Amino acid sequence: MPITEYYTKPASQIESEAATGASNDISELEEVESVDTLESEESESAQEEQEDEMDDNDGDNFAKKIEALKVILKQNKKKMSAYEYLRYRSVYVLLINWKKRNMICKKAASVAAREVFNKGPYCAKGIRKWAKGWVENGVLPVSMQGCHQKTKSFIDDEDVIEESLEFIRKNEGKITPKLYRIFVNNTLFSQMRITASISEKTARVWLKKLGLVPQSRKKGIYFDGHERSDVLEYRTIFLKKMEEFEQLMPIFEGDNMDQKDPVLFEEQKPHIFVTHDECLFYANDDRPIIWAPLGEPPLRKKGQGKSIMVSEFLLETIGCLRLTDEQAQAHPEIPQEAQKFLRPGKNEEGWWTAKHLLEQVKDFAIPIFEIVHPNAIAVFAFDNSTNHGAMADNALCAQHMNLNPGGRQPVMKDTVFGPENTLQSMVFPLNHPKYPNQPKGIKQVLIERGLWYDGLHLDCQLCKGKNKVIDPTRIDCCARKIMSLQPDFLAQKSELETTIEEAGHKCIFYPKFHCELNFIEMYWGAAKRYTREHCDYTWNGLQKTVPEALNFISLVEIRRFARKSWRYMDIYRKGVTGKLAIFAEKKYKSHRRVPDDVLNQIILENK
Ligand SMILES: [Zn+2]
Repeated sequence: MPITEYYTKPASQIESEAATGASNDISELEEVESVDTLESEESESAQEEQEDEMDDNDGDNFAKKIEALKVILKQNKKKMSAYEYLRYRSVYVLLINWKKRNMICKKAASVAAREVFNKGPYCAKGIRKWAKGWVENGVLPVSMQGCHQKTKSFIDDEDVIEESLEFIRKNEGKITPKLYRIFVNNTLFSQMRITASISEKTARVWLKKLGLVPQSRKKGIYFDGHERSDVLEYRTIFLKKMEEFEQLMPIFEGDNMDQKDPVLFEEQKPHIFVTHDECLFYANDDRPIIWAPLGEPPLRKKGQGKSIMVSEFLLETIGCLRLTDEQAQAHPEIPQEAQKFLRPGKNEEGWWTAKHLLEQVKDFAIPIFEIVHPNAIAVFAFDNSTNHGAMADNALCAQHMNLNPGGRQPVMKDTVFGPENTLQSMVFPLNHPKYPNQPKGIKQVLIERGLWYDGLHLDCQLCKGKNKVIDPTRIDCCARKIMSLQPDFLAQKSELETTIEEAGHKCIFYPKFHCELNFIEMYWGAAKRYTREHCDYTWNGLQKTVPEALNFISLVEIRRFARKSWRYMDIYRKGVTGKLAIFAEKKYKSHRRVPDDVLNQIILENK
């Protein structure tokens, strides 16, 4: 029975259902077995049970306790969570079947377990403990396992989803959990004749289920740039590479997100995905947080009040990249944690730059990874930010060159060009009459390659300034463009990439505006929520709470975050994109992939 029905059903009806449920579910065999031991008075049958028996001497007490339950079930249902309600109801069903239907206690419990939670003996045992606590002390003991169930919530109801999405569309850019809660309680539920209300916390959960996440007010609507042609072009490349890596990676699936290792050929090494990101936690974080569909990460403005920046690596295998205490003891030369904190801003620790990240990767992340996963190849994934794409100082980079020799431009490394791999220095020789040992500049380099012609400008209108046009087919509009498209310049890797590859690992960059593909974003979200709930947002409080928040998030949760990103990749790979992708992602929540037929159905239904 869906929980929505529980809420609207009077206690008297529940009682009669409890009675009928009894004979339906229990097999004949069990019935016979119990009759053997039963047959007599209730009090005797209760004594025959061996563990955690309830004292059955006080018939009056039972009657009172059953009455009290009835009242709770009838009157307090709005105040209880669905799970709480089911706990009370299971005890009620047990007592009714035991006391009023003369069932043996054990059997009454298993009836309650099956009927209320659709669970077996382990859960039944738990219900008996609750009932014991209830009869003896008038309270339900809290600690109990085995009876958890995936409770259906109103938000799983199609109408609630539809109406909510409509409301969200109408109020784009203004949605907060508070506002949404008012809508649900005052409008939606009364429209649907549901006599219940939700808390702000529930409103938060529901908004998330609807695909919204808290964002800064400024930007961040999903579709800004998300579907730009150059972004999509790169996304295709990214998805293909990830698909290849995935074959070599352990995957995490099922209710407990258990690890399943890949089947590899002898010469293949397992690949382990290591995602990275930086995140700012602010003191005085009292800005109203607007909820919007997942998309561009909230604007990260540096120096906005005091803040802590965290630069972190997350793995599905172990969570945060760090050594266990045993590993740390065995390898005292390796740092234990890859995680870095930094307090940016003047007079603090300075800014987090490409150099810092490089150091973190080289001296912390890679050595730690190699202890945690010896013999495996790390696939490091980074945001596609200019910071991360930073080149070494001597890298081939058309962007930093001048047209003419000398002046302020980098001294770049030697290179080769053309079919014969002709060697070329980017610097004039020492005996050059005018520019000894100085950078040549784009013009001279292009002349030597036979690519220069008169009238060529350094930059053209289409490449620079306000009316910049992105067009991959434009290849010879200006000198800088020609230079940048030379194979050796195109092949130039960032320093980060070079460092990682030289260590024998791999590196990939996420497509721009696609933070849903980096599961660390969800980890930040959870950490920020924890921080909001536990921090007074003083500077001291923040410094204490942020590390706590980062440790609070469980490995299973992290694996679920990752599964969501894998699912998005699967959906995009199958050509579903935009709002439909968000919808499809929600529809197939507990899986890593969305099967083709399900996806086709979703597409059909939403045409
Ligand atoms: Zn141009």
